[in-house]
Amino acid sequence: ATPMSIMASVGRAAQLGVLVRNGEALQTASQITTVVLDKTGTITQGSPEVTEFIVLQPKYDEQNLLSDIAALEQHSEHPLASAIVAKAKQASMTLIEPEQFTNLQGRGITGTVNSAEYAIGNQSLMQHIGIDDVSAYQQQIGRLAHQGKTPVFVAKNQRLIAMIAISDPIKEDAIEAISAMKNSGLKVVLLTGDNQQTANAVADIVGITTVFANVLPEQKQQKVLELQQNGEVVAMVGDGINDAPALMSADIGLAMGSGTEIAIESADFTLLSARLMVVAETLLLAKASMRNIK
Ligand code: ADP
Ligand code: MG
Repeated sequence: ATPMSIMASVGRAAQLGVLVRNGEALQTASQITTVVLDKTGTITQGSPEVTEFIVLQPKYDEQNLLSDIAALEQHSEHPLASAIVAKAKQASMTLIEPEQFTNLQGRGITGTVNSAEYAIGNQSLMQHIGIDDVSAYQQQIGRLAHQGKTPVFVAKNQRLIAMIAISDPIKEDAIEAISAMKNSGLKVVLLTGDNQQTANAVADIVGITTVFANVLPEQKQQKVLELQQNGEVVAMVGDGINDAPALMSADIGLAMGSGTEIAIESADFTLLSARLMVVAETLLLAKASMRNIK
């Protein structure tokens, strides 16, 4: 491609609200065969809200529990944590400082508040700390997941005592954008750290049939490498800290501008708009501009 035509395409990308790191990235973008989409913040709006707080052991009070849980979650940067903290703030709670706090990437958090030990996160975190009665609540979990909600489990002193349902609405243009990608011959894959059932429900709604769920941060990168080994030229779209290695390993990485600093630094393209349609438009633009040049 000539420098002039690449510059023109970079300019057109800017009009779409896309910042391009360099012309080479645009050329690679025209070769993409598979688009890998992160769920939270990429397909969904990334502004999750608590929809249900389910106390599983009647002796515990919802308000006291919420304030302890939020005391811990205020130290996590995860979008699910923000939803829980927001719920506590809405109830005008003052959050105390936990005695101890640990972040377990891809699983959740643990810590001590008011001398009680908490573990808050997904099913894999519950298994990790030796709680084996999660399956007793499979019906409730299934109901929430079927609605595309994420169940967050709360253990206090090694006992499962509550479940928090968190909902993150799907972006308005997600169905249209994914259909545009598929219509232009691209394969579309969903890659998420969230659980399989929730991921499947979201994938169903937006028309994705290939779903990799329960993927730990380092495994996100591994999945991208596997797709490449199978001959795919991969575009990865994400926003989180956990997406950064995958964004770097992909043939091109696209970061949502609202995402974390590290995701943006790891990407070739930064999308200033939250619209998923911009991803489809960028890939089509790249293809069209390279066709014109040849
Ligand atoms: P993703 O952003 O794709 O959901 P993560 O690897 O960041 O993936 O998280 C995987 C899962 O771990 C989340 O879906 C959630 O169930 C759990 N998790 C992570 N951080 C927290 C947290 N601070 N509080 C509760 N659950 C969490
Ligand atoms: Mg994300």
